[in-house]
Amino acid sequence: MKYIGAHVSAFGGVFNAPQNAHNIGATAFALFTKNQLHWQAKPLDIETIDKFKSACLLYDFLPDQILPHDSYLINLGHPQQTALEKSKIAFLDEMRRCEQLGLTLLNFHPGSHLHKINKDDCLIRIAESINWALQKTTSVKAVIENTAGQGTNLGYRFEQLAKIIEHIEDKARIGVCIDTCHTFSSGYDLRTQQACEETFTAFANIVGFEFLSAMHLNDSKAALSSRVDRHASLGTGEIAWNCFKYIMQDSRFNNIPLVLETPYPDLWPQEIQQLKKWAKLSQRA
Ligand SMILES: [Zn+2]
Ligand SMILES: [Zn+2]
Repeated sequence: MKYIGAHVSAFGGVFNAPQNAHNIGATAFALFTKNQLHWQAKPLDIETIDKFKSACLLYDFLPDQILPHDSYLINLGHPQQTALEKSKIAFLDEMRRCEQLGLTLLNFHPGSHLHKINKDDCLIRIAESINWALQKTTSVKAVIENTAGQGTNLGYRFEQLAKIIEHIEDKARIGVCIDTCHTFSSGYDLRTQQACEETFTAFANIVGFEFLSAMHLNDSKAALSSRVDRHASLGTGEIAWNCFKYIMQDSRFNNIPLVLETPYPDLWPQEIQQLKKWAKLSQRA
Protein backbone atom coordinates (compact mmCIF):
# COMPACT_ATOMS: atom_id res chain seq x y z
CA MET A 1 0.00 0.00 0.00
CA LYS A 2 1.28 3.48 -0.85
CA TYR A 3 0.57 6.25 1.68
CA ILE A 4 0.68 9.53 -0.22
CA GLY A 5 0.23 13.06 1.10
CA ALA A 6 1.80 16.43 1.85
CA HIS A 7 3.19 18.52 4.67
CA VAL A 8 -0.07 20.20 5.66
CA SER A 9 -0.83 23.18 7.86
CA ALA A 10 -1.54 22.72 11.55
CA PHE A 11 -2.66 26.35 11.84
CA GLY A 12 -5.11 26.78 14.71
CA GLY A 13 -4.00 23.51 16.32
CA VAL A 14 -2.47 20.14 15.46
CA PHE A 15 -5.99 18.66 15.35
CA ASN A 16 -6.64 20.59 12.10
CA ALA A 17 -3.91 18.73 10.18
CA PRO A 18 -5.81 15.43 9.57
CA GLN A 19 -8.74 17.26 7.97
CA ASN A 20 -6.39 19.43 5.88
CA ALA A 21 -4.78 16.21 4.63
CA HIS A 22 -8.14 14.55 3.97
CA ASN A 23 -9.29 17.58 1.94
CA ILE A 24 -6.48 17.17 -0.59
CA GLY A 25 -7.05 13.43 -1.05
CA ALA A 26 -4.05 12.42 1.05
CA THR A 27 -3.51 9.05 2.73
CA ALA A 28 -0.44 10.34 4.61
CA PHE A 29 0.64 13.70 5.98
CA ALA A 30 3.45 15.58 7.67
CA LEU A 31 3.03 18.37 10.22
CA PHE A 32 4.84 20.51 12.77
CA THR A 33 3.56 19.83 16.30
CA LYS A 34 4.73 23.33 17.32
CA ASN A 35 5.91 26.50 15.57
CA GLN A 36 8.99 25.31 13.67
CA LEU A 37 10.74 28.69 13.96
CA HIS A 38 10.54 28.92 17.76
CA TRP A 39 12.44 27.12 20.51
CA GLN A 40 9.61 27.02 23.01
CA ALA A 41 5.97 26.02 22.75
CA LYS A 42 3.26 25.62 25.31
CA PRO A 43 2.77 21.98 26.27
CA LEU A 44 0.01 20.02 24.55
CA ASP A 45 -3.13 19.89 26.71
CA ILE A 46 -5.45 16.89 27.04
CA GLU A 47 -8.17 18.51 24.94
CA THR A 48 -5.79 19.15 22.03
CA ILE A 49 -4.44 15.59 22.22
CA ASP A 50 -7.97 14.10 22.26
CA LYS A 51 -9.09 16.27 19.35
CA PHE A 52 -6.03 15.22 17.33
CA LYS A 53 -6.60 11.52 18.00
CA SER A 54 -10.32 11.78 17.13
CA ALA A 55 -9.54 13.58 13.87
CA CYS A 56 -7.02 10.86 12.91
CA LEU A 57 -9.68 8.19 13.57
CA LEU A 58 -12.33 10.11 11.66
CA TYR A 59 -10.14 10.59 8.58
CA ASP A 60 -8.48 7.16 8.75
CA PHE A 61 -4.89 8.08 9.55
CA LEU A 62 -2.77 5.60 11.51
CA PRO A 63 0.54 6.59 13.15
CA ASP A 64 2.57 4.98 10.34
CA GLN A 65 0.90 7.38 7.87
CA ILE A 66 1.92 10.49 9.83
CA LEU A 67 5.35 12.12 9.78
CA PRO A 68 5.88 14.94 12.29
CA HIS A 69 8.83 17.24 11.50
CA ASP A 70 10.88 18.95 14.21
CA SER A 71 11.93 22.61 14.48
CA TYR A 72 14.44 24.00 11.98
CA LEU A 73 16.46 25.55 14.83
CA ILE A 74 17.64 22.23 16.25
CA ASN A 75 21.25 21.17 15.51
CA LEU A 76 22.01 17.83 17.18
CA GLY A 77 25.64 18.04 16.08
CA HIS A 78 26.28 21.59 17.30
CA PRO A 79 29.99 22.09 18.03
CA GLN A 80 29.38 24.30 21.10
CA GLN A 81 28.21 22.72 24.34
CA THR A 82 25.54 25.21 25.46
CA ALA A 83 23.97 25.39 22.02
CA LEU A 84 24.11 21.59 21.76
CA GLU A 85 22.30 21.22 25.10
CA LYS A 86 19.59 23.63 23.95
CA SER A 87 19.08 21.57 20.77
CA LYS A 88 18.98 18.26 22.64
CA ILE A 89 16.36 19.55 25.07
CA ALA A 90 14.24 20.93 22.22
CA PHE A 91 14.55 17.62 20.35
CA LEU A 92 13.49 15.64 23.41
CA ASP A 93 10.48 17.95 23.80
CA GLU A 94 9.55 17.26 20.14
CA MET A 95 9.78 13.50 20.79
CA ARG A 96 7.61 13.77 23.87
CA ARG A 97 4.99 15.78 21.97
CA CYS A 98 4.87 12.99 19.37
CA GLU A 99 4.43 10.39 22.11
CA GLN A 100 1.61 12.43 23.66
CA LEU A 101 -0.14 12.53 20.29
CA GLY A 102 0.27 8.77 19.88
CA LEU A 103 2.68 9.24 16.97
CA THR A 104 5.58 6.91 16.25
CA LEU A 105 7.91 8.83 13.89
CA LEU A 106 9.84 12.09 14.19
CA ASN A 107 11.54 13.47 11.09
CA PHE A 108 14.57 15.77 11.56
CA HIS A 109 17.62 17.14 9.77
CA PRO A 110 20.81 15.61 11.20
CA GLY A 111 22.86 18.74 11.98
CA SER A 112 25.63 21.09 10.88
CA HIS A 113 29.33 21.24 11.74
CA LEU A 114 29.53 25.05 11.31
CA HIS A 115 33.23 24.68 10.35
CA LYS A 116 34.06 24.16 14.03
CA ILE A 117 34.45 20.38 14.23
CA ASN A 118 35.28 17.77 11.63
CA LYS A 119 32.53 15.89 9.83
CA ASP A 120 33.07 12.54 11.54
CA ASP A 121 33.04 14.07 15.02
CA CYS A 122 29.87 15.94 14.13
CA LEU A 123 28.19 12.73 12.91
CA ILE A 124 29.11 10.93 16.13
CA ARG A 125 27.85 13.88 18.17
CA ILE A 126 24.53 13.68 16.28
CA ALA A 127 24.26 9.97 17.10
CA GLU A 128 25.02 10.65 20.79
CA SER A 129 22.30 13.32 20.91
CA ILE A 130 19.81 10.88 19.36
CA ASN A 131 20.82 8.12 21.83
CA TRP A 132 20.29 10.54 24.71
CA ALA A 133 16.75 11.41 23.53
CA LEU A 134 15.85 7.77 22.76
CA GLN A 135 16.82 6.72 26.28
CA LYS A 136 14.39 9.26 27.72
CA THR A 137 11.44 8.19 25.56
CA THR A 138 9.87 4.86 24.72
CA SER A 139 8.05 4.66 21.44
CA VAL A 140 9.05 7.27 18.85
CA LYS A 141 11.45 6.38 16.05
CA ALA A 142 14.02 9.07 15.18
CA VAL A 143 13.85 9.51 11.38
CA ILE A 144 16.96 11.22 9.95
CA GLU A 145 16.43 13.10 6.71
CA ASN A 146 19.12 13.22 4.05
CA THR A 147 20.06 16.80 3.15
CA ALA A 148 21.09 18.69 0.02
CA GLY A 149 24.38 19.48 1.76
CA GLN A 150 23.83 23.23 1.75
CA GLY A 151 26.31 25.20 3.86
CA THR A 152 27.70 22.93 6.56
CA ASN A 153 24.66 20.59 6.77
CA LEU A 154 25.64 16.96 7.09
CA GLY A 155 23.68 13.91 5.94
CA TYR A 156 24.05 14.55 2.21
CA ARG A 157 25.93 11.30 1.52
CA PHE A 158 24.39 7.90 2.24
CA GLU A 159 27.66 7.05 4.04
CA GLN A 160 27.00 9.88 6.51
CA LEU A 161 23.52 8.50 7.30
CA ALA A 162 25.07 5.04 7.73
CA LYS A 163 27.71 6.45 10.08
CA ILE A 164 25.04 8.00 12.34
CA ILE A 165 23.04 4.75 12.35
CA GLU A 166 26.18 2.76 13.16
CA HIS A 167 26.51 4.72 16.43
CA ILE A 168 22.84 4.37 17.48
CA GLU A 169 22.36 1.97 20.37
CA ASP A 170 18.74 0.97 19.70
CA LYS A 171 18.60 0.23 15.96
CA ALA A 172 14.85 -0.48 16.16
CA ARG A 173 14.24 3.20 16.90
CA ILE A 174 16.28 4.79 14.11
CA GLY A 175 15.12 5.31 10.54
CA VAL A 176 15.74 7.53 7.54
CA CYS A 177 13.61 9.79 5.37
CA ILE A 178 14.90 10.17 1.83
CA ASP A 179 14.03 13.50 0.22
CA THR A 180 14.21 13.20 -3.58
CA CYS A 181 15.14 16.87 -4.06
CA HIS A 182 17.96 16.65 -1.51
CA THR A 183 19.14 13.33 -2.95
CA PHE A 184 19.36 14.82 -6.43
CA SER A 185 20.98 18.14 -5.52
CA SER A 186 23.50 16.34 -3.31
CA GLY A 187 24.68 14.39 -6.35
CA TYR A 188 22.60 11.21 -6.84
CA ASP A 189 20.89 11.17 -10.22
CA LEU A 190 17.17 10.31 -10.36
CA ARG A 191 16.24 11.46 -13.85
CA THR A 192 15.81 8.09 -15.54
CA GLN A 193 14.69 4.60 -14.51
CA GLN A 194 18.34 3.49 -14.79
CA ALA A 195 19.54 6.39 -12.63
CA CYS A 196 16.88 5.60 -9.98
CA GLU A 197 17.94 1.96 -10.06
CA GLU A 198 21.58 2.94 -9.41
CA THR A 199 20.79 5.50 -6.72
CA PHE A 200 18.49 3.20 -4.76
CA THR A 201 20.90 0.27 -5.14
CA ALA A 202 23.54 2.50 -3.55
CA PHE A 203 21.07 3.36 -0.80
CA ALA A 204 20.28 -0.35 -0.25
CA ASN A 205 23.97 -1.23 -0.02
CA ILE A 206 25.12 1.67 2.13
CA VAL A 207 22.12 2.34 4.42
CA GLY A 208 19.61 -0.47 3.79
CA PHE A 209 15.89 -0.37 3.00
CA GLU A 210 15.12 -1.75 6.47
CA PHE A 211 15.83 1.77 7.75
CA LEU A 212 13.68 3.58 5.17
CA SER A 213 10.82 5.01 7.24
CA ALA A 214 9.54 7.85 5.04
CA MET A 215 10.11 9.74 1.80
CA HIS A 216 9.79 13.40 0.85
CA LEU A 217 8.70 13.65 -2.76
CA ASN A 218 9.94 16.91 -4.23
CA ASP A 219 11.22 17.90 -7.62
CA SER A 220 14.32 20.13 -7.64
CA LYS A 221 14.78 23.63 -9.05
CA ALA A 222 18.53 23.25 -8.61
CA ALA A 223 20.82 21.11 -10.77
CA LEU A 224 22.35 17.72 -10.00
CA SER A 225 25.22 18.05 -7.47
CA SER A 226 24.48 21.77 -6.92
CA ARG A 227 24.10 21.17 -3.13
CA VAL A 228 21.29 23.75 -3.26
CA ASP A 229 17.94 22.97 -1.59
CA ARG A 230 15.11 24.40 -3.73
CA HIS A 231 11.96 22.31 -4.03
CA ALA A 232 9.84 22.32 -7.21
CA SER A 233 6.38 20.91 -7.94
CA LEU A 234 6.52 17.37 -9.31
CA GLY A 235 7.37 17.25 -12.99
CA THR A 236 8.38 20.91 -13.18
CA GLY A 237 11.99 20.67 -12.01
CA GLU A 238 15.27 19.06 -12.96
CA ILE A 239 14.22 15.58 -11.80
CA ALA A 240 10.91 15.37 -13.75
CA TRP A 241 8.28 12.62 -13.54
CA ASN A 242 10.27 9.39 -14.17
CA CYS A 243 11.55 9.24 -10.60
CA PHE A 244 8.12 9.61 -9.00
CA LYS A 245 6.64 7.00 -11.31
CA TYR A 246 9.51 4.68 -10.37
CA ILE A 247 8.84 5.15 -6.64
CA MET A 248 5.10 4.58 -7.04
CA GLN A 249 5.70 1.30 -8.86
CA ASP A 250 8.31 -0.14 -6.51
CA SER A 251 7.13 -2.07 -3.43
CA ARG A 252 10.21 -1.05 -1.40
CA PHE A 253 8.41 2.27 -0.85
CA ASN A 254 5.20 0.66 0.48
CA ASN A 255 3.63 1.33 3.89
CA ILE A 256 5.64 4.46 4.76
CA PRO A 257 4.56 8.12 4.54
CA LEU A 258 5.39 9.56 1.08
CA VAL A 259 5.08 13.28 1.62
CA LEU A 260 5.10 16.25 -0.76
CA GLU A 261 6.91 19.41 0.36
CA THR A 262 6.37 21.06 -3.00
CA PRO A 263 5.89 24.83 -3.18
CA TYR A 264 2.29 25.24 -4.44
CA PRO A 265 -0.33 23.74 -2.08
CA ASP A 266 -3.00 24.40 -4.74
CA LEU A 267 -1.30 21.74 -6.88
CA TRP A 268 -1.15 19.09 -4.13
CA PRO A 269 -4.51 17.43 -5.02
CA GLN A 270 -3.33 16.99 -8.62
CA GLU A 271 0.14 15.79 -7.64
CA ILE A 272 -1.35 13.26 -5.20
CA GLN A 273 -3.87 12.06 -7.79
CA GLN A 274 -1.13 11.48 -10.36
CA LEU A 275 0.98 9.52 -7.86
CA LYS A 276 -2.03 7.44 -6.85
CA LYS A 277 -2.72 6.56 -10.50
CA TRP A 278 0.76 5.10 -10.91
CA ALA A 279 0.56 3.25 -7.62
CA LYS A 280 -2.72 1.68 -8.75
CA LEU A 281 -1.30 0.64 -12.13
CA SER A 282 1.53 -1.22 -10.43
CA GLN A 283 -0.88 -3.08 -8.16
CA ARG A 284 -2.70 -4.41 -11.20
CA ALA A 285 0.48 -5.49 -12.95
ZN1 LIG B 1 12.35 17.23 3.10
ZN1 LIG C 1 14.50 20.70 1.35
